[in-house]
Amino acid sequence: MADSLSPADCARMLEKAESIVALTGAGISTAAGIPDFRGPQGLYVTRRYDPSRVFDIDAFIRDPEPFYEFTRDFLSIVDDIRPTLSHRFLARLEEQGRLKSLITQNIDALHHRAGSENVIAIHGDYWISHCLKCRAELDFENFRRKVEEEAVPRCENCGGLIKPDVVFFGEPVKGMDRAIREIERADLMLVLGSSLTVYPAAALPSIARCPVIVVNLGEVKLDPGPNRHFVNENLDTYLEAVGKALGHSGN
Ligand SMILES: [Zn+2]
Repeated sequence: MADSLSPADCARMLEKAESIVALTGAGISTAAGIPDFRGPQGLYVTRRYDPSRVFDIDAFIRDPEPFYEFTRDFLSIVDDIRPTLSHRFLARLEEQGRLKSLITQNIDALHHRAGSENVIAIHGDYWISHCLKCRAELDFENFRRKVEEEAVPRCENCGGLIKPDVVFFGEPVKGMDRAIREIERADLMLVLGSSLTVYPAAALPSIARCPVIVVNLGEVKLDPGPNRHFVNENLDTYLEAVGKALGHSGN
């Protein structure tokens, strides 16, 4: 692919930037051991879940059990997983004040667990849940406990159905206005582990008026351009080299 970027050059661009925005996709979490849902080892395939039923909001309200069966499976995978070097790399950039926000398509909440705070999870995630009746909020730890204790978690205040803030089919994506604003004012955009095939996230890099660095192993659906750099390499390996060039220690 045209115009690759050495880790040293990438590090120089990161050092110069003052307002970085990142967009992450499934590729940042597959390295942690979370299967891409749709891939050959994905839960949809190996456990025969039908995403159009599991994540359908009307089906969920009628019968939440299939969703909670999926959730128990999914969270038991997530329990054993640690954020990757790439998750930690982004948390470090935020800590340094350079990364202003992190837009993710992933629902696994690994960015939160790595220490990132300004996360815009456009497909939502499991980090926060709500009672659909009284809107009481549940944090991840309490939700995790209830999922193990109850076939279908119910609200302790009112008995209403609990739903994690994961975006279902038939629900609007979250935080798009904020994501667009952050991209418009950024002076550097990172796209990590996304092939840019799932909309609306796939359209976001085209909004950027700043340089865009795409790191993804495999094909990416974004046209080449003077301000666009494509790195077709393993994300963790590449960012480890960038981190070394930046003087990050002990990833
Ligand atoms: Zn309630």
